[in-house]
Amino acid sequence: MVAELLPPERVLMGPGPSNVHPHVLRAMSTPLLGHLDPAFLTIMNETMDLLRKVYQTENKLTIAMSGTGSAGMETVFVNLVEPGDKVIVGVNGLFGTRMVDVAERCGATVVQISAPWGEIIEPQKVKEALDSHPDAKLVAVVHAETSTGVRQPLEKISEIVHNTDALLVCDMVTSLGGCPTEIDKLKIDAAYSGTQKCLSAPPGLAPVTMSDRAVEVMNNRKSKVQSWYLDLSMIVSYWGEERSYHHTAPITMAYSLRESLRLIVNEGVENVYARHALYGEALQQGLEAMGLKLLVNKEHRLHQLTSVCIPEGVNDAKVRSRLLEKYDLEIGGGLGELKGKVWRIGLMGYNARQQNVTLMLSALEDILLEEGASIEQGAALSKANEVLKKCVLV
Ligand SMILES: *Cc1c(COP(=O)(O)O)cnc(C)c1O
Repeated sequence: MVAELLPPERVLMGPGPSNVHPHVLRAMSTPLLGHLDPAFLTIMNETMDLLRKVYQTENKLTIAMSGTGSAGMETVFVNLVEPGDKVIVGVNGLFGTRMVDVAERCGATVVQISAPWGEIIEPQKVKEALDSHPDAKLVAVVHAETSTGVRQPLEKISEIVHNTDALLVCDMVTSLGGCPTEIDKLKIDAAYSGTQKCLSAPPGLAPVTMSDRAVEVMNNRKSKVQSWYLDLSMIVSYWGEERSYHHTAPITMAYSLRESLRLIVNEGVENVYARHALYGEALQQGLEAMGLKLLVNKEHRLHQLTSVCIPEGVNDAKVRSRLLEKYDLEIGGGLGELKGKVWRIGLMGYNARQQNVTLMLSALEDILLEEGASIEQGAALSKANEVLKKCVLV
């Protein structure tokens, strides 16, 4: 006899996946529908409407691709890029390097704009790249760089890109549902995201949105999209009027996305952003009060993902495994060049609340003391409470 599956209950405060909202879990245990059942088609339509609200766009092409956030990245690149195209990619963390890889696999010539991990891509650098490469088809940047905790300002970059014919592509995997995405206001031509970060749903779908300009670029392709599975020209026939079968939609995942978006829209997107900002601020100030250093300058910090520098002499892996053993609490380690240098703490979606801030600060303090780190004892929680007292959420 094989024992029934019974995973431990963890608090997932790493870079994703984050905890699933209980209502989302409940939605996932409702009965399956066929992928062409009229009741399911209604759910798809509702999901598109809700997605537009959360992405802050009127883009007609706003759908959820099957697959995790990376499938969203691949969707945008395989559909917009043809062999021989030139693309400019901002690289200031792991996900920038991944976009370079994906674009190169599409046959693109990639021009990289690099910045140190933990810093933003300076708009001036984008201007210089476009001046040197006026034939670039698109410029891609990561809005919320989960490997570092940097929030990339988009306004100036958008202006610069739209002074040319290039398209602006944004990785919004960790920003969607966590901070304003403003697709229409910022004239972002293509964006992709994932369900497992700030949407409080499990990994498995990749919300994608494309402007009319991006759709036109796709319609004018000379070559077939090299990926059959991710070819939007066929996928939109299923999401649109035609409703023709392409692949079987992951029905249960679609339920989870609809429910997670419903919760966000009902709370109000602005309230959701304010909640992330408030609890993120409380966590960050608490960590600093403990005597820990944060990787990113205050001005460019994300609230939903914080990179904390690991204090000298403290064992990275040991602290993370003690948090998991003693508190069922997961945080992330550093990636790439930040491996062993930072911890990444997520406060995403359902987890962006008071009890998670309190748990994180007190558990981390406890384990750091256990490990003999020299930190300020007892300061973190009172600092966090001070931040929370100053601001009341609606
Ligand atoms: C998590 C993440 C991805 C990849 O998403 P998966 O769900 O792991 O495939 C891409 N970009 C960013 C910024 C991310 O945080």
